[in-house]
Amino acid sequence: MTQTPCLHPHGDIIDGYWLCGRCYEKLPERPVKYSKGNRAISVNGAEYFHQIPIYAKIRKASNGWSLSKFVEAMVRRLIAKADFEKSDAISYAIDLLKIQGIEFGSGDYAWDTVAAWDIIYDDMQYWDRDAGGNQ
Ligand SMILES: [Zn+2]
Repeated sequence: MTQTPCLHPHGDIIDGYWLCGRCYEKLPERPVKYSKGNRAISVNGAEYFHQIPIYAKIRKASNGWSLSKFVEAMVRRLIAKADFEKSDAISYAIDLLKIQGIEFGSGDYAWDTVAAWDIIYDDMQYWDRDAGGNQ
């Protein structure tokens, strides 16, 4: 199966970097494309066009939640349920989102606290077994 590479069209700023809301890759900077403007500036006889930056969108789910708010809800749950450091909890939450593979904001999914907790809850089913079978 061939997949087109993700262009990271939307996401949110989390913990100082950009998290793509489609593939959940961490990027050091918010993605930006430059669009050529209509107005030219003439400098020493050469024409330059304005470069209009078009930043990747901070996408909101239909309930108004941003990706950072959703990750935050997951992180709070992880810290409440396990002895996570915050930065570890963020990485863990992002890994879970990657595994889920659902694009942030897609309509057939409720992007709210319950959904965030459900992801953690589903994952917790495996925690005890991973830790040596003490259920
Ligand atoms: Zn992406």
